[in-house]
Amino acid sequence: MEFQKFNFHPQVMEGIAAAGYTKPTPIQTQAIPPVTEGRDVMGLAQTGTGKTAAFALPILHRLSQGGRGHVRALVIAPTRELAEQIHESFNDLGRKTPLRSLTVYGGVGVNPQIQKLKRGAEIVVACPGRLLDHLKQGTIDLSRLDVLVLDEADQMFDMGFFPDIRRILQHLPKKRQTLLFSATMPNEIRKLAHDILSDPVTVQVDTVAPATTVSHALYPVKQHLKTDLLLALLQHTDTESVLVFTRTKHRAKRLGEKLEKAGYKAASLQGNLSQNRRQAALDGFRDGTYQVLVATDIAARGIDVSQISHVVNYDIPDTPEAYIHRIGRTGRAARTGDAFTLVTAEDTAMVRAIEQVLKSPLERCTVEDFDYAVPAPKKDGEFARPPRQPAPRRKPSGAGKSSARGAGPVGSAAAKSQVPSPARPSTGQEAHAAGAAPRKRSRGARRQTRAGGN
Ligand code: AMP
Repeated sequence: MEFQKFNFHPQVMEGIAAAGYTKPTPIQTQAIPPVTEGRDVMGLAQTGTGKTAAFALPILHRLSQGGRGHVRALVIAPTRELAEQIHESFNDLGRKTPLRSLTVYGGVGVNPQIQKLKRGAEIVVACPGRLLDHLKQGTIDLSRLDVLVLDEADQMFDMGFFPDIRRILQHLPKKRQTLLFSATMPNEIRKLAHDILSDPVTVQVDTVAPATTVSHALYPVKQHLKTDLLLALLQHTDTESVLVFTRTKHRAKRLGEKLEKAGYKAASLQGNLSQNRRQAALDGFRDGTYQVLVATDIAARGIDVSQISHVVNYDIPDTPEAYIHRIGRTGRAARTGDAFTLVTAEDTAMVRAIEQVLKSPLERCTVEDFDYAVPAPKKDGEFARPPRQPAPRRKPSGAGKSSARGAGPVGSAAAKSQVPSPARPSTGQEAHAAGAAPRKRSRGARRQTRAGGN
């Protein structure tokens, strides 16, 4: 199905062409018709599926007709980064329309936001706390809103935003279109959907399958050797841009510093940074100034860096859903990408949970010539502290009955493949061609694991 079938306003069609989209993604194919009809929609889709355009395009189409100069569409998102990314999508896809979008979030001065709001905008992309401040102070008027979008609702719930959201809802007209997007559907989201959506259409793209273009691998290692193993992996792998996840802000900061010391162009992105520094880190990662970005889940939420070649879970995430979100950062929009997860013996339960959700065992890899036997130093401060035992917050679907096939204990002799090949030149086509080799090997090794596990 092509975009022409949606009968969008010509200016919106021009925006789609300028963005280089030729075919709608599955969530767009499903969501755009009901959203365009004005129906309330519950969308179950994770980052990387094209869900932003699934709501942005019909909103731009709708707003291309009718009044201007007042807020007609409000998108609420959990983080500043995601808000910026959605705002950029509106600007990008709506570049040929006269519509204006602006962002509203905390951590930056309130006055410039007030000035922009005074100048007028039809689309506001906001995080809940600052939006509520504006509503209380009367510096934003949402009384003539046509469409409300709650994006990444599960994340907003996890971050404790639901009371704010319910307060915000009291300032909105009852008669409006509401769209709710979430990667997962725990009871709290179901309840919110029941309360705020009217006769909704539910659209869903596979919520558990991560991008099929991603090849996954586990690297069992002792806690104190994680940084050395990461350095060895980076050294031996042809990477273009690498997003590394840590469990805490502290670990993100420390690891970013260590990578820099080791000679990598690295930056860390964590909640303690000022908005300017966060933006500089993101921009630097996007334009290639930084090859490696180290981030926590919350800080990395919504990062859309289409060229990410590798995601490394320095620390395993707390839930299978978070794993899928993280690796959704690579292999976006049909590009191929690799996801490496460093795992310690403490991570066994979470690895099982992830494998159950993925319905497939993950291959265990080792790095050739890496000395896994180096003993732990007697004293290495906070950084060497083992991570807390993760416990899944929500039971993944299908979990609990049987363990995944071939899912041996992490950190055991389950390691099967020898990765990677020696480093190759990293420019232009050469780098691209060289980058393909380890991926092929990874896939082959994964098949081996499956066969071995049966
Ligand atoms: P999202 O899931 O909204 O974060 O989108 C993930 C990525 O896919 C973004 O880089 C989008 O620009 C891109 N994208 C969205 N829709 C399409 C499409 N129809 N064709 C190609 N790329 C797309």
